[in-house]
Amino acid sequence: MAQLLITGGAGFIGSHTCLALLKEGHNLFALDNYCNSSPRSLERVSVLAGIDGRDRIKVVKGDIRNKDVLRKVFGGQDQPIDAVVHFAGLKAVGESFLYPLSYWDVNVNGTLCLLEVMKTYGCRTIVFSSSATVYGFPQKIPTSETSNVQPINPYGSTKAAVEQLLAHLADSEPGWRIACLRYFNPVGAHPSGSIGEAPIGIPNNLFPFVSQVAVGIRKELEIFGADWPTPDGTPVRDYIHVMDLAEGHCAALQALLREPPQLITTNLGSGQGYSVLQIVKSFEEATGRHIPYKITPRRQGDAAFSIADPTFAKNRLGWATKRTLLDMCRDSWVWQQLNPFGYGDQKDDDSN
Ligand code: NAD
Ligand code: UDP
Repeated sequence: MAQLLITGGAGFIGSHTCLALLKEGHNLFALDNYCNSSPRSLERVSVLAGIDGRDRIKVVKGDIRNKDVLRKVFGGQDQPIDAVVHFAGLKAVGESFLYPLSYWDVNVNGTLCLLEVMKTYGCRTIVFSSSATVYGFPQKIPTSETSNVQPINPYGSTKAAVEQLLAHLADSEPGWRIACLRYFNPVGAHPSGSIGEAPIGIPNNLFPFVSQVAVGIRKELEIFGADWPTPDGTPVRDYIHVMDLAEGHCAALQALLREPPQLITTNLGSGQGYSVLQIVKSFEEATGRHIPYKITPRRQGDAAFSIADPTFAKNRLGWATKRTLLDMCRDSWVWQQLNPFGYGDQKDDDSN
């Protein structure tokens, strides 16, 4: 059992991982500024965690760029913080072209602030949310961790920069235990439908958009290009159920805490690719709803294929995905039906 700081804990992946970590018996501080989430996700996490869930998760509102807030968390406890699971960040590829300064500030400068405070308080264990985006146009499909890091959008560049910073830190002094987890495409929700992905405004990602079309909030899906060099012309991605991803974090953390200090960089993906049209079809099958769509031009910064080689994670962490595409569609749909407007405190919009 460890005492953990979870930055961005109220977000999509953070909330599901908080639940998995609580189930493993850890005590958590969840820090979030709610710029893309709601405190209600963590209230639901503590309910799902069971009888003592509420006692074992402390929620702190704050920004990772505010060192005073971080100092209070690290310095204000009877027991030291053993490790950080660092989700807080901005994550939309398209938006990162429009607001590169914000992306570098939150993702890189924010991580720098966090690492400086961790170092001050002698906490040297961190699990970092990296992304398959660091591979850019991958040299080889499926893509292993030895492939070149060559991001093709500002968001991916910020993730690559933090990975580099963490590698320098690991080289600089002994004692750092670092895991860089390169997620492929996280989707789905807790099967209860109590927590899930609740983007503020128009969803950037495919699954929440398709879910909102299915539930009738949006008229139709725009498919960004059907002229890609893929079997049906639409881009292929490696979708991973968020519960599998949460379990991947538990496995990475366990390895860091039990083994000598080291830097682990691993993909978290299934090794299986699906096109956008295949996702639409599976979603229709899982929900019984028709998903109207139209083909529009390609989106800037997209690639034709992104599929993980999951071998390293399996060998190194003993972790592999268990859930199917049907599970991903069904669980997304349960969440969307029970929570058509997310956690209910999101800003609304009238687009599409
Ligand atoms: P999310 O937006 O749901 O969660 C991020 C959380 O961080 C939110 O709760 C947000 O309010 C919080 N946050 C943002 N800036 C903050 C700041 N300055 N201080 C404190 N809190 C802040 O996104 P997610 O999908 O859960 O992603 C979590 C992490 O995983 C991110 O770092 C993201 O880049 C990375 N990632 C996500 C995906 C994906 O497709 N979802 C893929 C690869 C990597
Ligand atoms: N996509 C789409 N319409 C949308 C959102 C996404 O056609 O409204 C496509 C996008 O071009 C990509 C795939 O769906 O090929 C997955 O996109 P997402 O944004 O979910 O994840 P990404 O792979 O970009 O991280």
